[in-house]
Amino acid sequence: MPFFVVDVALPVPLQRSFDYLPCAEDARSDYQPGQRVRVNFANQLLTGVVLGTREQSDVAANKLKSLLQRLDDQPLFDAETLQLSLWLAQYYHHTQGEVLDLMMPAMLRKGSRLDEVDERHWRRLAAANEPTLRGSKQQALWQLFEQQSLWPHQQLTSRGFTQAQLQRLQTLQLIEPLQLLPLPSAADEQQPALALNAQQQQALDQLRCSQFSVSLLEGVTGSGKTEVYLQWIAQLLQHQRQILVLVPEIGLTPQTLKRFRQRFSEPVVALHSGLNDRERLQGWRAAAEGKARIVIGTRSAVFTQMPELGAIIIDEEHDASFKQQDGLRYSARDFAVVRAHQRDIPILLGSATPSLESLHNALIGKYQHIKLTQRAGNAKPPGMMLHSLLHQPLTAGFAQPVLQRMHDTLQAGQQVLVFLNRRGYAPLLACNHCGWMAECRRCDARLTLHQWPHHLHCHHCGHQQAVPAVCPSCHQPGLESIGQGTEKVQQQLLELFPNWPIRRVDRDTVRGKQAFDQLYDDIHDGGPCILVGTQMLAKGHHFPDVTLVVVLDADAGLFSSDFRGMEHSAQLILQVAGRAGRAEMPGEVWIQTLYADHPQLNLLLDNGYHALALSLLQERQQRQLPPYTHLALLRAESEDRHQAEQLLQHTRQHVQHWQRQHPQVRVSLVGPFPAIMERRAGRFRQQLQVHANERQALHQVLHQIIHYLQQQRLPRQLRWHLDVDPIDT
Ligand code: ADP
Ligand code: ZN
Ligand code: ZN
Repeated sequence: MPFFVVDVALPVPLQRSFDYLPCAEDARSDYQPGQRVRVNFANQLLTGVVLGTREQSDVAANKLKSLLQRLDDQPLFDAETLQLSLWLAQYYHHTQGEVLDLMMPAMLRKGSRLDEVDERHWRRLAAANEPTLRGSKQQALWQLFEQQSLWPHQQLTSRGFTQAQLQRLQTLQLIEPLQLLPLPSAADEQQPALALNAQQQQALDQLRCSQFSVSLLEGVTGSGKTEVYLQWIAQLLQHQRQILVLVPEIGLTPQTLKRFRQRFSEPVVALHSGLNDRERLQGWRAAAEGKARIVIGTRSAVFTQMPELGAIIIDEEHDASFKQQDGLRYSARDFAVVRAHQRDIPILLGSATPSLESLHNALIGKYQHIKLTQRAGNAKPPGMMLHSLLHQPLTAGFAQPVLQRMHDTLQAGQQVLVFLNRRGYAPLLACNHCGWMAECRRCDARLTLHQWPHHLHCHHCGHQQAVPAVCPSCHQPGLESIGQGTEKVQQQLLELFPNWPIRRVDRDTVRGKQAFDQLYDDIHDGGPCILVGTQMLAKGHHFPDVTLVVVLDADAGLFSSDFRGMEHSAQLILQVAGRAGRAEMPGEVWIQTLYADHPQLNLLLDNGYHALALSLLQERQQRQLPPYTHLALLRAESEDRHQAEQLLQHTRQHVQHWQRQHPQVRVSLVGPFPAIMERRAGRFRQQLQVHANERQALHQVLHQIIHYLQQQRLPRQLRWHLDVDPIDT
């Protein structure tokens, strides 16, 4: 056999691919780009992806190792996906092997075969006559079907029955094969499309079914964006296209899914974090084989291979959960736009509160800008007002008129939503004798007091400890909780409103999908009640009986040192406000603040998000911040306070030296300086910002930085990573 080597991309941080000898017996034509292989790499078993084959290798023949196994007969990844993986690798400065690893469902990464999850089933047909079966194997097989009429293909093959035996029973018309799609659409009753209002119709008319274009659908909450998505999807399905819909992490509620399943008879596959590895692979496979016509999922669903992909929709495009916050820090939204461009298909970004990045692109005409300014159906926009807390006596953190309003709302048989983005009982436990405060040993942060169960908890590193009975410093009793979390508010409201249920919705009360479903049902048929919750309550939910929303403390986000602080606060406030009055009854939003004359808060309330966004954009332009410039962060962390800073100093010097030789590449470096919370989980964190007007320049410098860092021999505990287009700075 002529000599050849297989070129393999591996999930390791080295910027190259690796040569391996083929598996024995394999011919060169057995290898195609996109197949997975198992290899031994530095005494580790890894799954890699074939990039191609070559007649010779740079590696000496006696150093070459053989592949352990070829996992796929056909390429898993098509040429398009391989191409996209290269783009991701270059843009985020990772290796193609790392990117491909990220793009695979976990089971494929661990080396499972694609057909290991087989959704095929066999069903017994109503056979009139007692069959005459020859072989004893066939008889045994038929006996199984007499016991139970539906069998997964896999269970039968694992009992030793063959495809041929099954087919024999099929030709005798005893059984038939069935394709049960993952998460079958069950018996969801089909719901017809709604008659669009004029604005929705106009929006739909502007959406095309082919060719690349990005549209930003800016529509106030409840304006019927989802209805526009659904009707666009209906058109696309008629063109035989597959559609990918991305939603935020907590946006994929059973209600959302139900709405899709009730509208279309085509198979809808949901990909979200609640699935186990097996279900995830089933969904992925159904999409990759073109069976799933609609894929709806959270961030990583953006990597789902879909041969007939014809459009992408991103709901709540401003949501932070579209950005991965560890490992390869990609933005699913930005990547989706690249994917649509490469495939020459349309993409729709929807939001009531678009990110300044997308809004900027719409304003300069790069994106088509579509607006929905009114609520759909009969719902009216909620009235929003600021309520100053200055010089006001507060009861349980509420001003008197706000409590009165809550009371009236409950009396009228409606529901109240109280929003406080802080779980636990109180954010601080302190000694009223000596001023001691319960702090995390491993973070620059205070411990949150939780009442049920009673303990102190660091929300940054997860550290937990018992609540001391007396002050650890002065040994006096008199420890007091200061401030409020959702637990405390719930408890206080129970005393203030003893006649109504007070339901708390946060990560401590709602764990897992089922708990949420239950809660959701309770809220829906529950009659008057108060909901107290964190941002878990804010997004995407439809609570028709909520007519009053109270934002307990709007001030937390107003003075953030992050330049995106105000943008994110405004988005969150409007998301929460959008829960009010979504049905027939008008809604009201009361926002409690100590800064009732805060100019940006007032702009938001008087003139809306769009007006605020324009003013924030102006500020960004003046300060030369994204979206007017491009930003990347190099972060370093170590248990040693100085190591991280030193590494970044040296990197900075290296870049400056390089810049002197390349004066045409214009970037500016800011830092290193400590992260907002310098110490977390026992590690000191520093960062270096890289700003550039041109993407090209940014990438050139980042390339230099990575190259430099990879050459350093660093102590094990000193870690660094790069974040391109960071969303928290
Ligand atoms: P958004 O996605 O913008 O928040 P939705 O699509 O969820 O808005 O619509 C909000 C509510 O209005 C839903 O209850 C929906 O059924 C209803 N709705 C949407 N479009 C129409 C329409 N054209 N006629 C009547 N009701 C509508
Ligand atoms: Zn004390
Ligand atoms: Zn901590």
